[in-house]
Amino acid sequence: MDNESEYVGNEVEEVSLQNKIPKFSNTHYTADGSQRAFVPLLKPDTLWFNTGTLCNITCKNCYIESSPYNDRLVYISANEVRGFLDQISSRKWPVETIGLTGGEPFLNNEIMDIIESICTREYLLIILTNAMRPMMRPAITSRLAEVQKKFQNQIKIRVSLDHFNEDKHDFVRGKGAFQKAIEGLEWLSQNGFQIAIAGRMFWGEDELQSRDGFAKLIAEYGLNIDPYDPNELVLFPEMDMTKEVPEITTSCWKILGKKPAEIMCSSSRMVIKRKGANHPVVVSCTLLPYAKEFELGNTLKEAESPVFLNHKFCSQFCVLGGASCNPSE
Ligand code: SF4
Ligand code: SF4
Repeated sequence: MDNESEYVGNEVEEVSLQNKIPKFSNTHYTADGSQRAFVPLLKPDTLWFNTGTLCNITCKNCYIESSPYNDRLVYISANEVRGFLDQISSRKWPVETIGLTGGEPFLNNEIMDIIESICTREYLLIILTNAMRPMMRPAITSRLAEVQKKFQNQIKIRVSLDHFNEDKHDFVRGKGAFQKAIEGLEWLSQNGFQIAIAGRMFWGEDELQSRDGFAKLIAEYGLNIDPYDPNELVLFPEMDMTKEVPEITTSCWKILGKKPAEIMCSSSRMVIKRKGANHPVVVSCTLLPYAKEFELGNTLKEAESPVFLNHKFCSQFCVLGGASCNPSE
């Protein structure tokens, strides 16, 4: 599976050589007829589950367009998650970390069963949440406190706080969102959870200015987070989605000094369940849940195929932008 010619059929080759094709339209070839770069699954150490796209809020620039109305990806069930955990074992994937993302994961009615099933199998678990009302319901906080006592070193909760300034955060997430997220963060910190913050670098700030700003906020609320540790305060640069981006060819790796092994889809996959579907499917990554071309199959076995970088996000976020984790939260 490491020879590119195995993925390139003659039929495709003729099309690309004879006709000028638009950018990001042919799986194997770029617009100028070069061979499109691809990423093999080299070491699947992380499996993400999208728990459903519904969210309690509607943020500006939510890359997955979550909202109280977007149910394009429906709630995954605990049984469906357990089925994939079984497949990890049977396929012998070297998975260390399971990630849960949404929408807002704590809206899923089976979220606590999902969390317990993952922790019981001794995986590290990262949950991306806005830490607002869905997480702070008593039925959830009481069970979360229990799992924290039982599996405390396994769970990390990453809370989205777009900006350290209340008005700026609320500009993105709606009035009152900042205070609710802070209440959630304080509860998590007081209950001993490993926590991280995911922020965005808006308004022309550089990374140090952002970290300094968050450092003051973290100190003010006594949160157990190191703002200068990039794993504890993850900062996502703002991306201009209207910008023209180049396609990535197999020659680009050498030119850019990058390796397929550095790209997220060489080490992870995401399980989603589409509205109306009777079973979940596996997609290449957290960034492209809706793109049909990036749906790899119903099982982890089927999802072991390589991914051709035929989307502008591949270029913009991953190869040129260096994304290595989920920006949704
Ligand atoms: S960014 Fe996160 S909190 Fe905001 S709408 Fe999207 S999923 Fe919901
Ligand atoms: S967006 Fe990134 S992780 Fe997803 S398929 Fe493209 S290169 Fe891979």
